[in-house]
Amino acid sequence: MDFALSDTERAVRDTARDFITREVVPLEQELLRRERAHRPGLEPDELRELQLRARAFGFWGLATPEEYGGMDLPAVTQSLIWTEIGRSFVPFRFGGEADNILFRANDEQKREFLVPTIEGERRSCFAITEPGAGSDAANIRLSARPDGGDWVLNGEKTFITGGNEADFAIVIAVTDREKGARNGGATAFLVDRAMGWRSEFIQTMGEGGPASLVFDDVRVPRRNILGEPGQGFDLAMEWIGKGRYTIPSHAVGIAERALRMAIDHATTRHTFGRPIGDNQAIQWMLADSETELEAARWLILRAAWTVDQGMDPRHASSMAKLYGAGMVNRVVDRVLQIHGGMGYTRELPVERWYRQVRLYRIFEGTDEMQRLIIARDLLRGYTRLGGHLA
Ligand SMILES: Cc1cc2nc3c(=O)[nH]c(=O)nc-3n(C[C@H](O)[C@H](O)[C@H](O)COP(=O)(O)OP(=O)(O)OC[C@H]3O[C@@H](n4cnc5c(N)ncnc54)[C@H](O)[C@@H]3O)c2cc1C
Repeated sequence: MDFALSDTERAVRDTARDFITREVVPLEQELLRRERAHRPGLEPDELRELQLRARAFGFWGLATPEEYGGMDLPAVTQSLIWTEIGRSFVPFRFGGEADNILFRANDEQKREFLVPTIEGERRSCFAITEPGAGSDAANIRLSARPDGGDWVLNGEKTFITGGNEADFAIVIAVTDREKGARNGGATAFLVDRAMGWRSEFIQTMGEGGPASLVFDDVRVPRRNILGEPGQGFDLAMEWIGKGRYTIPSHAVGIAERALRMAIDHATTRHTFGRPIGDNQAIQWMLADSETELEAARWLILRAAWTVDQGMDPRHASSMAKLYGAGMVNRVVDRVLQIHGGMGYTRELPVERWYRQVRLYRIFEGTDEMQRLIIARDLLRGYTRLGGHLA
């Protein structure tokens, strides 16, 4: 058994680390200053500039096929890079990406939606969640009815990341209520904002926020169906599958950085004449954090490896998402405790992480939904105890 990275994986990881350290980390103090003044930490054009600088560095389209100018990296390497991105709390991501399911578009749609999204000229959002259907995604109600050569969409989506900024939305709508969304009754539509949907910003405990999208008789031409009619639910599950190893990979980067801060603080902060790290109470928090971080790292890499092997990644990815999301919440909580009152201030990024990572247990499948998947796989015998070594 070999737990080492290959030379290529290490080289790509180290180059990403170098970029983040040199170009992104230096923006952190300014970001905190702006956010304290209730301004966006990073403006869209600043993000774009960073992405273009990364492109010159060779980083563009981690998951994007080479024919679209991307790097087409294996999932394990992508996971390693998401961890590097997580080390800085600047909301940076490499450019040249598009929602995975946009690659299912036909040639005309690829020209209109996929390529401009990869190039950063257009912004997308993905919308399945509704006020009445989150975990129970098959219960969506936003309807699309055929009318002449068009479809007419009515209903509301909510909590849509990037929904306020997007030029177009990938919308999962009910096209056959009798069949139900899960059984071929839902279809994915590519819907330009210019077609008439409205968005409304939702305040959250995190920085930035998602949006609700309102569709009142929004007319969409038939040619804007993504994939096949009736394929919407499967496409949605494919979209969500990607986040199940990238989100916890990001969490590992956050937890590593936060734990580093806690170790430094534990050695430099003195109480009662000695460093707080001399106390077992502090040591145990460090030890538990390091152990859970290491456990998460391997669960996540195994999930990504499963993707690269062409195996069904769902079980491994659900465990990675469940454990990684919980881990980062526990680690950041301990790191905040170790920093005492300073941890609670907005001078440091710890309280920011505390607010940010709470989301990781909710979006793209809550903890409970991951447990449901894992348990169902076991009870129905879809997976064997012992993972891929069984
Ligand atoms: C900031 C943010 C960004 C988001 N981005 C997007 C996006 O880009 N696109 C998009 O489509 N959606 C997005 N979402 C929606 C997100 O995926 C949902 O919020 C999530 O799936 C949970 O759905 P819900 O909020 O309706 O909670 P509910 O489904 O109502 O669940 C409420 C609680 O009950 C639990 N629960 C539900 N059913 C069961 C059960 N059977 N057994 C045990 N427990 C259960 C849940 O785990 C949860 O704890 C985003 C959400 C947030 C907060």
